[in-house]
Amino acid sequence: MKIYMINNTFRYETENIVRVFFPNEKLEMVNIEKNEQESEKPYILTQITDSDSGKTVMASVHFEDYTNAITDTVDFCENESQYISEQERKTAVCIYRLLTEYTGIIPPWGILTGVRPIKLFRRLLQKHGLDYVRMYFKDKLLVSEEKISLCQETERNESYIIRQSSDNSYSLYVSIPFCPTRCSYCSFVSQSTEKSAKLIDPYVDLLCQELIHTAKILAGYPLKLETIYIGGGTPTTLNAEQLQKLLTVINQYFPVNSCKEFTVEAGRPDTINEDKLKVMLTNHVDRISINPQTMNDDILRTIGRHHTAQQTLDAFALARTVGFTHINMDLIAGLPNESFESFRRTLDTIVRLNPESITVHTLAMKRSSHLTAQGMHIMKENADTACQMHDYCRTLLYEHAYEPYYLYRQSRMVGNLENIGYARKGFSGLYNVYIMDETHSIIACGGGAVTKLKNNHEDTLQRIFNYKYPYEYINGFAEILKRKDEIRTFFDNFL
Ligand code: SF4
Repeated sequence: MKIYMINNTFRYETENIVRVFFPNEKLEMVNIEKNEQESEKPYILTQITDSDSGKTVMASVHFEDYTNAITDTVDFCENESQYISEQERKTAVCIYRLLTEYTGIIPPWGILTGVRPIKLFRRLLQKHGLDYVRMYFKDKLLVSEEKISLCQETERNESYIIRQSSDNSYSLYVSIPFCPTRCSYCSFVSQSTEKSAKLIDPYVDLLCQELIHTAKILAGYPLKLETIYIGGGTPTTLNAEQLQKLLTVINQYFPVNSCKEFTVEAGRPDTINEDKLKVMLTNHVDRISINPQTMNDDILRTIGRHHTAQQTLDAFALARTVGFTHINMDLIAGLPNESFESFRRTLDTIVRLNPESITVHTLAMKRSSHLTAQGMHIMKENADTACQMHDYCRTLLYEHAYEPYYLYRQSRMVGNLENIGYARKGFSGLYNVYIMDETHSIIACGGGAVTKLKNNHEDTLQRIFNYKYPYEYINGFAEILKRKDEIRTFFDNFL
């Protein structure tokens, strides 16, 4: 579908709001001078023109069976950025109203398309108070009452965690970009071990070197390590010896004893065994994630995860026996062919296990995933079912004393929903909040890892990218070490 823009420079926001309604449509953004295009339907036209009091924004939609247009005005404002963002917001509102009427879809997040709604909620809350932020989300961004309450509650729990971070805090992220097989919805760089098993040993060797090199740089500054997160991928793809090697280096070179949380994303239940769990526990890992995604074996097969629901139950029981007292479990709402009943059985089973935290994701149809390549589309029925699944989570998890503590959104999520981390009091995943809020610097090592250096004075982030794929990481390792020098330059200026 073509989206014509006359004098509209809000390409990104315009595309995003249309994508909320047409997630699988190929959208072509076209700048034109004036309204004389000859276009095949369907198409959308947006225009911004000067008016006596400021600007007039206009959007029109043209489908075979429906054509309509809406205009609105934006009064001139001395504050240039406020003036521009109001034009952007009103353009999005015009498109939203037209497409809501045409499709019958009422997106629960209104015109809010960003990844971090809680961050915006907090900024407005701190500046203008609760009544204002609630009004702004409802009337200006068209967010539903239910999502506003969710934001309010999540913000409260997040803030408590953010306040524990100080100006010299940082977290360490370690990437293990290998998985036993590739999930059909995956868009990460992770490599299946079927293809890349021989790369794991050299990868772990170099990762240890990168960690040592990085730790030596950090030791020169008065920094405070808050959390460590080993993610991926599936870190427990490593065998017990490889894990031991990696964790020994981390324990030896980083102040592990004084950090508040040390997570390993165990991920696939079929990669967990007693030896690995013991290695993790004896090396100060105090939080693991065992991710069933669904407890429906048929669907697990469909989405390319070669484990069973029983293996999840066994891995969980084993982790408890070994001594883990904080276990998180991840689920996905909106998986292909999963009914509400199936999801309900999954959640009921997980809640009976009594993990300390449960993260409920919504399926995102990323362009690079097999699922999207296979032509699986997000149907409206999936959206309604995913919505029902989230409602059930909220009710059941509240009843069992889990509260939302972090939330983020991605593009192309089924039903335009969100991912929510729920936790019992005292068991929130701190790293999840810090990375999502961009609270402090994240020092990242490994393939695909991105270091984010936070300048709290200017509220800016400087990024250092590592090569993505394991073979690139191995071949370009010298360059990766060289790039780490930017950490030194940053802290020399900042601390
Ligand atoms: S476990 Fe995660 S990283 Fe690995 S293939 Fe599945 S979605 Fe991708």
